[in-house]
Amino acid sequence: MTRRTKIVATIGPASEDESTLAHMMAAGMDVARIGLAHGTVDEAIERYRRIRKVSEQEGRPVGILVDLPGPKVRAATFGEDQVRFRSESLVELVVGNERSTSDVVEVDYEGLLDDVLVGDTLDVGDGRVVLDVVDKGGDRLKVQVVHGGLLSGCPGIHIPADRLRMATPTPADFLALDAFVELGVDMVAISFVRSAHDIRRVGTEPHPRGPMLVAKIETRAAVQNLAGIIETAGAIMVARGDLGSECSIEELPHLQKQIIQQCIAGGRPVITATQMLESMVSRPSPTRAEASDVANAVFDGSSALMLSGETAIGIDPPNVVRTMDRIAQRADEEFNYELWAERLAELRMTDDTTHDAASITDAMTMAAWRAADSLGISTILAISGTGFTVRSMARFRPQARIIGMSHNERTVQQLTMSWGTTPVLVKDRGSNDDMVRQAVEVARDRDVVRSGEIVAVLAGSDNRSRSANVLRLERVP
Ligand code: PEP
Repeated sequence: MTRRTKIVATIGPASEDESTLAHMMAAGMDVARIGLAHGTVDEAIERYRRIRKVSEQEGRPVGILVDLPGPKVRAATFGEDQVRFRSESLVELVVGNERSTSDVVEVDYEGLLDDVLVGDTLDVGDGRVVLDVVDKGGDRLKVQVVHGGLLSGCPGIHIPADRLRMATPTPADFLALDAFVELGVDMVAISFVRSAHDIRRVGTEPHPRGPMLVAKIETRAAVQNLAGIIETAGAIMVARGDLGSECSIEELPHLQKQIIQQCIAGGRPVITATQMLESMVSRPSPTRAEASDVANAVFDGSSALMLSGETAIGIDPPNVVRTMDRIAQRADEEFNYELWAERLAELRMTDDTTHDAASITDAMTMAAWRAADSLGISTILAISGTGFTVRSMARFRPQARIIGMSHNERTVQQLTMSWGTTPVLVKDRGSNDDMVRQAVEVARDRDVVRSGEIVAVLAGSDNRSRSANVLRLERVP
């Protein structure tokens, strides 16, 4: 079985050269993530162009996800070397963005002294160091180190999201967004969303005309408003780094499961992110706990798994992707497809009986899954303009592989994130007969299916169909 769960890898200084990118693609990177929290927009655009170039050279569609940092508060740089913070020591926090030391940490947030209160706890670097605010005076906060540790670079400082007065997306996010929309970016992640309103504020055209918007769930408010966010966003990321600071750590695994379930019910791809293979930033193999975390995220139903520092600044990014590929592929083999299908009846995308496009696609994808399952069909060809039919099909986690075919280039790029889907670009749409014939021939010519086997093909009956309303079982010529 080929791997079904997708891999998103963050591109940074350790992985931005052409040769490393090519090796990461060969190792199984499906989506490249460009974080905008570090460096300039121009540097990010350079990375974007290089990823596109290498993906073209390699003949492999690789989606690009640009991650807008939102109101992320960071410490000014500690430099390359690790700086030690000792438990119980006293440290000062001031507003600034020049240089941080173990005595005085500069913080790039003007509202620091107004928004942070005595008694607050601040996580630094996704919990590597934990600080308690003990006093406030003049231009500084006095904090005590509760849990000491090592910090380097510009670590994030988690300020409880309900305290932050900055809206998301921020003015800087909008500037970067404009530049990447102009370039035709496939997907854009929005950080620190609190409600569906934050997603609507982005204001881009709905995908596939515009980028697919990925809502990062990392605030308590987002967990509370999850249903509306799922309905409004194109995909969801369980951003465990900040979410683990916002809620108690023992809640995190359960939130991960709940968020994933709701995304599947809503037919949205869902990415599980952060610290999946963290130890591989500096080691050639993962801890046993990390291997289990990756496999369990697959069993939870994640559409995609994300690598952050492991590939952005780690010692061997292609090796990290290869390792995740192996663990995810093995977990895909053990995935309980039968139990999933039973549970899906309760999680179906729509229970509406108005016979609109969504409910028709819901019924048709269910029929395709049943037909493939009962006839032992190994390939489902789903032809889709927007990718909606393909994503609906993926919810069923069929044993059959899904070939997501579209005449829309952006849709093909956005399908790189969809579970179990091989995205394929086809020529312009014609009649239903033309589309089905073309899809079957393309699949045969690419050795995806063999002459004589039966495939399931899902498509709209003509150009005007708003949903997949034809299911055909075709013998490959
Ligand atoms: C996270 O917090 O888990 C996350 C993915 O966001 P970022 O990497 O931008 O902190």
